[in-house]
Amino acid sequence: MTQLSFGRAYKLASIITDGLWEAGAPASAIVPVGSLRRYAAETQNVSLLAVTNVDRINDLLILSCDLPFVDHILHRTEQSVTVQTKLGTISIHAINQEAEGSALIALTGSSKHLDLLSEVAKSQNLLFRNGSLINRTGKQFFFHTETAFYERLGLLFIPPELREGKDEIRAAKANSLPKLLSHKQIRGDLHMHTTWSDGRNSIKEMVQASETLGYDYIAITDHSQSAGSNKKLALSDISRQKDEIRAVSAQHPNIQVLHGIEVEILSKGSLDFEDRVLASFDIVLASLHNDEGQSPQALTERYLRAIDSPYVDIITHPANRSPGLSNGYTLDFDRIFTAAATTGTALEIDGAPSHLDLDGQLARRATEAKAMIVVDSDCHRSDALHRQMQFGVATARRGWLEPQHVLNTQKIKDIRRFVKKQRQRA
Ligand SMILES: [Zn+2]
Ligand SMILES: [Zn+2]
Repeated sequence: MTQLSFGRAYKLASIITDGLWEAGAPASAIVPVGSLRRYAAETQNVSLLAVTNVDRINDLLILSCDLPFVDHILHRTEQSVTVQTKLGTISIHAINQEAEGSALIALTGSSKHLDLLSEVAKSQNLLFRNGSLINRTGKQFFFHTETAFYERLGLLFIPPELREGKDEIRAAKANSLPKLLSHKQIRGDLHMHTTWSDGRNSIKEMVQASETLGYDYIAITDHSQSAGSNKKLALSDISRQKDEIRAVSAQHPNIQVLHGIEVEILSKGSLDFEDRVLASFDIVLASLHNDEGQSPQALTERYLRAIDSPYVDIITHPANRSPGLSNGYTLDFDRIFTAAATTGTALEIDGAPSHLDLDGQLARRATEAKAMIVVDSDCHRSDALHRQMQFGVATARRGWLEPQHVLNTQKIKDIRRFVKKQRQRA
C-alpha cells in the first residue's frame, strides 16, 4: 500500500472536511482519525470520522460520495465509504453520537495500541471489539467519550499522540502519563524565513502574523550565504536586514523580534560565517542541508563540531528527514544528544511537514539524555505559522515531551540568557 506523507494526508483530509461542511453535512463534528490524528509522519489510510444522528448516517455517506473532488467510490459499508480523489484515497466513517468515544478509539488506533487495550480488557473478563466492550453475559457497551472508555478499563485518558503501543498503557495504569506540552504553552517561534532568503513574506508580514498569534517573541532566521536555496542572506545583507528588523520592531512593541540566522554547517563542520559575524546575531541556528555523500560518521562529526561552537544555539532538523521521501541521516544520535546536553545547545523539532524532525522517538531519547528541545515552525510563509507550530507541538507530544523540555516555553529574558550563556563558552 502506498504511504502518504503527513503533509499530503493533512491536506487531503482538510479539503474533504471543508467540502463536507460547505455541502451542509448533517454532522456535529468531523475529525481526522487514524495515524493522521496521532500525527504520524506517514500514513497508509487517510480517514475522517463524522459524528451524526443515527438516522442521518446514510445521508452523510451519500453526501461524501457526491463531493466534487471524488473521482470514484472504492468501497461502501453501512457506516463508511472509501473514495478516490486526485489527492489520494480517503475513508469517511459516520457514527451516531452515543458511540462517538468507541469509534474514536477504534479508528484512531494504532493497531498495537488496540492490541494492548484488548489484553487489558481480557484481564477484566471483557471482550474488546471495535471500541466497545462486551461482558460475560454478552452485553455490549459503547462509549460516548474516549475518557469513559479508558475509565471503564481503569485507565487514564491516553492522548492520541501516545497511542503507539509502546509503554503508554503501563504509564496510564501507573498514573504516570506525561503532562504533555500544549500549543498554548509555546511563547515564541525561533525559526522562520522571509523574502531575504527563500521565504514568501516580508519581515513585516511575518511579524504581524506572529503578533496576531499572540507570540511574545520570534526570530527571523534566513539562510546563510552558502545555502542551497535560490536566495540567501549575503554577508553584505546582514546589517541592512538588522536595520529593517529594528524599524519593524519599533512599530510592533508587543512582540520581540530577534535577528537570527540559519547558518550552514560546511563540509568539515565549520560554519558559513565567521564567529565575529555570528556574534552580531541575537540567535544562531545551524543546519545541514546537504550530506555531500558523506558517511554517517563524517556527518556526526560535522554536527559535533557545530554543537561545540559557542555561537551555535540551536541545531535545526537534525536528521534532515523528509517524510514520504527520505528517512534522513543515520547518525550517532547518542553522541549528538550527549554533546548537546553538555554544551547546552538546543535541538530542534521542526514542524514543517517536509521535516517533522526530530521525530517523536528521537526527541524522547534526546530529552532522556538531558538535551534541550526547541519546537519551531520553520515557516516560509506567514499563513502557515500556526499550522506548522501545531505539527511541531504534536511531534513533541509523540515524544512524550513536557513544557520544561522545550526552550520556547520560556520567557524572552530566559531565551536571551540562554544565548548569553552559550557565548560565555567562547
Ligand atoms: Zn533548514
Ligand atoms: Zn529553515
